[in-house]
Amino acid sequence: MPTLIQGGNVLRPDGQMERGDILIDGGVIREVSAGISAVTGAELIDASGLTLAPGFIDLHVHGGGGFSLATPDPDEIRSYARWAVAYGVTSFLASICAPDLEVALDYMRAVTLAAGPVAGGANLLGIHLEGPFVSHERRGALPDSWPLPPDPRTLDGLLQAANGLLRLVTIAPELPGADRLVRTAVARGATVAVGHTDAGYATAVKAFQAGATHVTHAWNAMRPWHQRDPGPLGAALDCPQATIEVIADGVHLHPTTVRLLIRAFGADRTVLVSDAVAPAGLSAGTFRIGSQEARLEDGRMLLPDGTIAGSAATMDQLVRCVIEWGCAEPAQALRMASAVPARVLGVSQRKGAIQPGWEADVVALDGSLGVAMTWVAGNLVYQRPGR
Ligand SMILES: [Zn+2]
Repeated sequence: MPTLIQGGNVLRPDGQMERGDILIDGGVIREVSAGISAVTGAELIDASGLTLAPGFIDLHVHGGGGFSLATPDPDEIRSYARWAVAYGVTSFLASICAPDLEVALDYMRAVTLAAGPVAGGANLLGIHLEGPFVSHERRGALPDSWPLPPDPRTLDGLLQAANGLLRLVTIAPELPGADRLVRTAVARGATVAVGHTDAGYATAVKAFQAGATHVTHAWNAMRPWHQRDPGPLGAALDCPQATIEVIADGVHLHPTTVRLLIRAFGADRTVLVSDAVAPAGLSAGTFRIGSQEARLEDGRMLLPDGTIAGSAATMDQLVRCVIEWGCAEPAQALRMASAVPARVLGVSQRKGAIQPGWEADVVALDGSLGVAMTWVAGNLVYQRPGR
């Protein structure tokens, strides 16, 4: 059945907001314009007072709502997908790290089983491997035993297990042999991100020349900026194709740091990611995150030693944060959560924009940018209670 969403404030691909209607049919956006005349049999949705934006694409997330994406159980991943739509997420990657390779392969198998459309939930687009070829020193909250030296055979095994679904892989370019792995991963269709790295500027530049195009959570778990060696982030800034992830939860980065990053890179090269872990969206308490124990307090996820263990943030919250902090205009913030991650993942020809021919993944936000409704492939999968 076609759906006609009427009278919303539509975020157009050029970043303009215009009052208009959206006609959806067969899972695809058919028409976007002011005053589309009623279509026979179409379900009418009154979107007056609402902002209509492309659904959010979270390309770095470990879980939420009590559900972990690092699990051998594909049903747990589907449960996450159904939970995430309440926060405007219509597509996501499952970020995988594990105590060892065997466990990681188990988790990846579950992702391959759950991949694609999930009934009533967000689309699982594939896998983000956060390692294992990362710096032990800059592992952050990754399990102690996860970082491994680069080995083409190990990468090959991971690519095989991913079955074509490895979309993003985080690599530390300073590790011996990492450049070869960057080339292999890119040749096999994955986006390579520099991250969890102790690389200096020159080494990181080489990684971007070898085909890396993205940075995992800018300034978190990487060598900091030094005035004479601006490190991986400086290298990314100097490589025009490179995009960065920002965890704008107010815990991982100071708001001024977020402002600096967005001003330096531009909203067009900045992706909002949650890096959320399973307890995101739950109330305070102590939880198991993979093999580790962590506590959630005041919106912070902490390991017993005080290391930040991923975030408790949701995508809609991150959008609101960057706007409230004066880091971005609403249209820019919404694009950083949709159009830009779509480009990073190579799906911008079908996702991340509200325009005819694109998949009908749409989020409707109220005046405070809270999520009122979410559509995935034209299906209304979330409606705020009481609406
Ligand atoms: Zn992560």
